[in-house]
Amino acid sequence: MLWDLKKVFLKEDEVRNAEYDLDLHELSFNGGTPFKTPVKVSATAVNRAGVVDLAVTAKFDYTAPCDRCGEETITPFVSSFNHTVVQSLVGENESDYIEAPDFVIELDAAVTADILLELPAKHLCKEDCKGLCPKCGKNLNTGECGCDLRETDPRLEVLKSLLD
Ligand SMILES: [Zn+2]
Ligand SMILES: [Zn+2]
Repeated sequence: MLWDLKKVFLKEDEVRNAEYDLDLHELSFNGGTPFKTPVKVSATAVNRAGVVDLAVTAKFDYTAPCDRCGEETITPFVSSFNHTVVQSLVGENESDYIEAPDFVIELDAAVTADILLELPAKHLCKEDCKGLCPKCGKNLNTGECGCDLRETDPRLEVLKSLLD
């Protein structure tokens, strides 16, 4: 969404609000498309003593396989971001600032960039996910499989063969 903030730029204490759904279902991240449902965006721009502040809240569900067991897991996020909107950035690449040439900002691009920074490097279905049995592949969260895992340690196998 292109958001025209000219009225906010030109008048102190002027406020603009925007609420909309941002569709990111085609966005690839980490080999998947984690945004199955629209991102709920709520944005407020306000002129405080001549400086335009942008506050954004994004609510979204992050869907990805668990790093350990592979189970598709949905994690809800509510993330808030603040930026100062300026008409032009002079040689800076500060992420605190958003550039608004002709008083217009590309809100979708700004929100998307903020969301991507929020995403977890590690994604587990639960803190103590037991993962998969390395021998039979059973999801150990659903119960024990009965495999004797001691036998499968490749280091021990090597030791054994050396001793023979
Ligand atoms: Zn898991
Ligand atoms: Zn097993």
